[in-house]
Amino acid sequence: MSTEREAADLLGELEDRTEPLKARDRLAIPPQEMPQQDPTLRRENIREVALGYTEEQALLEANRCLQCKNAPCVKGCPVAIDIPGFIRRIAERDYQGAVNIIKKTSLLPAVCGRVCPQEVQCQLTCTAGRSLKDAAKAVSVGRLERFVADWERQTGRSQIPEVAPETGRKVAVVGSGPAGLVVAADLRRAGHSVTIFEAFHKPGGVMVYGIPEFRLPKRIVQKEIDTLTAMGVEIRTDYVVGKSRRLTDLLEKDGFDAVFIGSGAGLPRFLGIPGENLVGVFSANEYLTRANLMRAYDRGRSETPIYVSGRVAVLGGGNVAMDSARMALRLGAEEVSVIYRRTEKEMPARMEEVARAKEEGIRMSFLQNAKRFLGDERGRVQAVECLRYRLGEPDDSGRRRPIPIPGSEFTVEVDTVVVAVGNDSNPLIPRTTEGLDVNPKGNIIVNEKGETSLKRVYAGGDIVLGSATVILAMGQGRRAAASINALLVE
Ligand code: FAD
Ligand code: SF4
Repeated sequence: MSTEREAADLLGELEDRTEPLKARDRLAIPPQEMPQQDPTLRRENIREVALGYTEEQALLEANRCLQCKNAPCVKGCPVAIDIPGFIRRIAERDYQGAVNIIKKTSLLPAVCGRVCPQEVQCQLTCTAGRSLKDAAKAVSVGRLERFVADWERQTGRSQIPEVAPETGRKVAVVGSGPAGLVVAADLRRAGHSVTIFEAFHKPGGVMVYGIPEFRLPKRIVQKEIDTLTAMGVEIRTDYVVGKSRRLTDLLEKDGFDAVFIGSGAGLPRFLGIPGENLVGVFSANEYLTRANLMRAYDRGRSETPIYVSGRVAVLGGGNVAMDSARMALRLGAEEVSVIYRRTEKEMPARMEEVARAKEEGIRMSFLQNAKRFLGDERGRVQAVECLRYRLGEPDDSGRRRPIPIPGSEFTVEVDTVVVAVGNDSNPLIPRTTEGLDVNPKGNIIVNEKGETSLKRVYAGGDIVLGSATVILAMGQGRRAAASINALLVE
């Protein structure tokens, strides 16, 4: 660990050395902590919590990389970014060179540098962490990715990618999340005409309506969307494919040569327990969409009504639960608890975000779950009746199974509940498109090219994978774009 001042001093010492750094010198450089807003201040505002590395910190962190020949980090990256390559460019202060390497495989480095779960991907197998026998001391690949992406944006160096001469072929992209954006960018670059159809009034998918501003500032996503429109991609918002127009009409009547479906996993799961339709019980989707997309946090200026809360219970243990709990604090709640039926070790949320939630004063209640919600005479939620749990043998997910303890009921008083127990794939398009095959979970089935059971119709991202991650959605988008391009230039 090192403060910004210490980082500057240490970098000066390293730069004064005449001998090249050896592996042991690199391992002796302290891992750089990213500056962040103070927890007591940040729980009162919506601004980004993590502030990003200073240049000195980025240079020190880059010098921690051992430039391993076998690069285990690259094997852990879902899109195989040349990690040692871009980190070496940073160490050489060639920031543009670093961004260019990342952009060969990842369209949204400023987003991925912020939200990718690097600790279970590239950083999990990092040799530096292994040599120091502490996974937390892995090279901070994600923070370095964010540093160069922010450098490029802030210094105004990001360029509009070149577009090949018009091919006269037309592609429709349904959904403007990371999967759809990657498909649109890749196909437009190849010279095809691309139209994105988006159900919401703003493009960006979960990056805009789900992940809160304090983790992913919306101007960053907007910048990527502006780049796409500058390349000539048309974006039609408030357009629900399956309602405004049938998917097959896009091909048969509107002259599109191919369609990509990237409609995500927007169907919230509920617990199916008594009292779930009481006033004050929200799905995390609705809660976060009101706050993010409809700017409910912007009190006084936004027209979206805000549900005033005192005591909030959030049910679940993933990123969505952490985002909902931290958003509840920022919307003015006095007390927020996360109720999760396993323990902290099994939580699917990013460790970093769990730690930040705790720093902000969110209470974690483990080994318990809601049995029913209790309401008052006006139908408003008043309390959650919970059951205590213990852990049994591992289940299909590899995590230990939570087992309810009979007779262990107790009550927690609340005025708001947010149910964040997962999402399923968006069912509208499969339901309204004859011949489009889905699996029993409702996810669209695709082959290794990203092609569905219908000719000229491709799919990728959460609608195929179920709730997954930004980088996996992007990876699927890239694969489908390559297949569509091959089809169109045949
Ligand atoms: P989405 O991002 O879901 O985009 C789909 C788009 O399609 C939406 O804009 C939707 O409005 C539109 N659409 C749907 N149906 C139609 C239709 N019929 N017609 C037109 N448009 C339609 N991942 C991470 O990697 N790190 C994180 O920290 C993280 N945190 C998350 C926090 C929250 C609160 C949530 C909900 C998810 C989080 N995820 C995270 C998951 C990640 O955001 C998703 O895996 C990713 O966005 C999926 O991308 P996608 O393009 O498949 O779909
Ligand atoms: Fe650098 Fe770690 Fe990758 Fe080795 S494994 S090249 S130390 S980031």
